[in-house]
Amino acid sequence: MPADETEKVYTFEDLKNWNREDVSLAVIGCPITHSLSPVMQNAALAEISKKSPAFSGWKYFRFEIEPGQIGEALPVFSEKNFAGLNLTLPHKVVAFDLVSEMSPEAQSIGAVNTLARRGGGWFGHNTDGRGFAAAVAGDLQLPLRDTNVILLGAGGAARAIAAAALSEGCRSLHIGNRDPERLRVLLAQSEKYFPEMFSRVRGFDLASPPADLPAPALVVNATSLGLKPGDGSPFPAKMFAPGTAVYDTIYEPAETAFLKAARAAGLPAANGLSMLCRQGALAFEFWTGLDAPVAVMAGALKKSIARANCAGKVAAK
Ligand code: NDP
Repeated sequence: MPADETEKVYTFEDLKNWNREDVSLAVIGCPITHSLSPVMQNAALAEISKKSPAFSGWKYFRFEIEPGQIGEALPVFSEKNFAGLNLTLPHKVVAFDLVSEMSPEAQSIGAVNTLARRGGGWFGHNTDGRGFAAAVAGDLQLPLRDTNVILLGAGGAARAIAAAALSEGCRSLHIGNRDPERLRVLLAQSEKYFPEMFSRVRGFDLASPPADLPAPALVVNATSLGLKPGDGSPFPAKMFAPGTAVYDTIYEPAETAFLKAARAAGLPAANGLSMLCRQGALAFEFWTGLDAPVAVMAGALKKSIARANCAGKVAAK
């Protein structure tokens, strides 16, 4: 198959006319043009096909499915023999209500980013939280267990990270957000799914972080502040205590103001490329049942970002 078949952006109309005999996987989003998942997942499929030829017919595609089309599109993906799907903005929360079954991770996060076909329906899973935990363990050599986590943001990524921190047994979890209502919803979600851990959870206003935040801690940027050129940092550099480790879920740009400040303070710090890679690796394992070739996936991502930086932009998932 020519490489450009997996680089093309397919639409719902293309899906209705889909007639491939081999096994297909796909990422669905809107917009989806700059998604890095096809390059990462097709590199993984090519790698495992060397040892397991049964996977040589598997290919991973990208589909631009508009917000109003997802309910109609999921059954068609199933009819057309897609084995698995990744979901990215804006479908992760809407699809939560469209799957027939789901994993405890998806339930506690309140969103699905990975689906596997089961019978005629879809089983929903979420790999963002465990992907984050694996990324922090790999990049910062830090387990979430017994760690004080200071989480900035209360959107979709923060929900997954909060669930990972609580399920891994963090020492404490302080969540700062700008919008108090979004913060309230995440705190309520944490209390509902992790009642035994909830005494370790506090919320705060991101605009005025409390002076008594625990130290040392892992400080995580899960806001979208930092994505745009000229963006500042969501956390005052003077509040980085000695012994702090820093993780930014943003990977493009590779160094945000937040990461720059952490590195200037001599703190261990990493960006979100490893989270992107690890959540993809977990999705790959969920679909294939095989260990994901993580190094191959990371290499494909880095190469693709370097290429995209020459030509234009990249996007989450
Ligand atoms: P959401 O839209 O769900 O949430 C956005 C969050 O950012 C909210 O908490 C919002 O706060 C906060 N925010 C936005 N602008 C500002 C600002 N100017 N100042 C302070 N806070 C702000 O997005 P996601 O959770 O999906 O994504 C958040 C980040 O995580 C993005 O940068 C994304 O690129 C990254 N991400 C990385 C992944 C990876 O694999 N590396 C995977 C998924 C996401 P408020 O509620 O006040 O609006």
